[in-house]
Amino acid sequence: MQSNPLSFLDASYEYLTRRTGAFSTHYGMTVSGFIKTKFALEDRPDIQILFFAILANDTNALAIFDKSFGLTNEAVLSLQEISKEHDVVLIVPVLSRPNSRGKILLRSADPSDYPKIYASYLTSTKDVDTMLEGIYATVGIMETDVMKRRDAKRRKLFVNACEGLDFDTKSYWECMLRNIGGSTFHAVGTCKMGPNSDPEAVVDPKLKVHGVKGIRVADASIMPLIVGTPTYATTIMIGEKAADMIKMDWHNNDSLH
Ligand SMILES: Cc1cc2nc3c(=O)[nH]c(=O)nc-3n(C[C@H](O)[C@H](O)[C@H](O)COP(=O)(O)OP(=O)(O)OC[C@H]3O[C@@H](n4cnc5c(N)ncnc54)[C@H](O)[C@@H]3O)c2cc1C
Repeated sequence: MQSNPLSFLDASYEYLTRRTGAFSTHYGMTVSGFIKTKFALEDRPDIQILFFAILANDTNALAIFDKSFGLTNEAVLSLQEISKEHDVVLIVPVLSRPNSRGKILLRSADPSDYPKIYASYLTSTKDVDTMLEGIYATVGIMETDVMKRRDAKRRKLFVNACEGLDFDTKSYWECMLRNIGGSTFHAVGTCKMGPNSDPEAVVDPKLKVHGVKGIRVADASIMPLIVGTPTYATTIMIGEKAADMIKMDWHNNDSLH
């Protein structure tokens, strides 16, 4: 919604009298779905598609989007221009089961120093190919009757680095991916759960740190592999399971480390 007092008043009136309009939905991410591309290794989806609705000239929503996804300035300006006159739906493919692996290293022996984080996004060619399939799927969505009935049109964001490439080609989309692709912040796996025999495993199946007494890890970091969805719900269940295991250990007067 435009950030001026009158539009808030109009929206309030519309909602209170007809239960429609800007206040009848949270906007933001309103719809999401999953697809399985030809690169999926298992019979499970490997791409999530997010739909972000931004009302025309909704400067608040744009600012949130800008801050959350770290788009480049030129891409944000381009999005601002487009949304000045039109409602915008951003159809965003997300790589659900990335093949690329990052790493996290200690900067020094001082525990208050920030670690070095190497995300290593899109270092695996398979990830790029899967994301391209995700992008083609979003193009397909734009060609559906539903979108046509709404007179929805694709618009091109200005990203200087990709301007020399023909729109809609594989090289164009790969360029866009590498220039304005971002993270959905679902980092996991830095304290992987696994058996003692696994040199990469940090915690055992009871979330106890291998070789160290008296410490468990119960958060997103213990996931050995990322789940194919956003990570919050799974992290809560890890916490619930940890609480159950700790209570069980106390109940059984088991080793309490
Ligand atoms: C911007 C953003 C958007 C996201 N959106 C979604 C979403 O829409 N859906 C979804 O499912 N997931 C989402 N996620 C991912 C989800 O939030 C995380 O997977 C989840 O919060 C991980 O939980 P955690 O307990 O492992 O870590 P955190 O939630 O990061 O919790 C760690 C806690 O430890 C505290 N802490 C840190 N250091 C210390 C210390 N030294 N002493 C004491 N306490 C300390 C922190 O303050 C924090 O409260 C998003 C993440 C981000 C960053």
